[in-house]
Amino acid sequence: MLELADVSHVYVNSGGASLAVEKLNLTVQRGEFISLVGPSGCGKTTILSLLAGLLRPTQGEVLLAGETVRGPSPKLGYMLQQDYLFPWRTIRDNAALGLEIHGIRTPEKLAYVDELLTELGLPGAGSKYPHELSGGMRQRVALARTLATEPEVLLLDEPFSALDLHIKLLLEDLVEETLNRLGKTAVLVTHDLAEAAAMSDRVIILGRNPGRIQCEVRIPDAIRELAPMQARKHPAFQEVFEQLWAELDTEEEEAGVAEVEES
Ligand code: ADP
Repeated sequence: MLELADVSHVYVNSGGASLAVEKLNLTVQRGEFISLVGPSGCGKTTILSLLAGLLRPTQGEVLLAGETVRGPSPKLGYMLQQDYLFPWRTIRDNAALGLEIHGIRTPEKLAYVDELLTELGLPGAGSKYPHELSGGMRQRVALARTLATEPEVLLLDEPFSALDLHIKLLLEDLVEETLNRLGKTAVLVTHDLAEAAAMSDRVIILGRNPGRIQCEVRIPDAIRELAPMQARKHPAFQEVFEQLWAELDTEEEEAGVAEVEES
């Protein structure tokens, strides 16, 4: 469904050129849920921007369903840490924003927006305004807005990190259940290893200097098949968490040593 084929990206600005990510190869299957984790500066945002078509790779190719990604596409939905709801628009009009941008705000699509709001636990919220909703509710509106244009792939950039733990856990379950039901493919960027382990089919661990794929951890079926909240309680969950932690730890230490040696 999604592929990074030998992708490198160099940022060029007045300060010079810097190699942000180097020779990335990654294939995401249709319906798969993967997470990207790694230390700050390892290229997570760059990779999401490349997948979203917001950046063109300096080298290599990004493919969506076999076709080169050349710019933003309605097939790709992006969900961010902040909900970016417009305060002067009703919830329904906020959720319908993508439909307007793509020129497809039809009565059928608006009915789908209402359906999504109901499925996401916000029945009757369409005529309210963002300030009337809690943070968790607003993030559900942001999810409805992302899903309204019926993207095939969702790029999730730390969508739960600004929320209280309790709300975050509930939303993880809701997002996973919704994406599974709709058969969506998803790429999640998160700092939270437990979240990555609980939600994903595969976790990609990135290293830095320059950003690269260090290794990947396949989540065992017994955990993968459970909703995130249940997955966290599975007896094998701790072992998976420790495996991820060990991989990440090594990288942090290596980066630390490299920085000391360079200075
Ligand atoms: P992460 O999201 O994992 O923190 P980023 O993708 O933001 O990593 O950054 C990867 C690397 O690219 C870092 O070394 C960062 O300093 C560099 N970088 C990111 N954006 C720019 C930019 N606009 N110009 C120059 N360098 C950048």
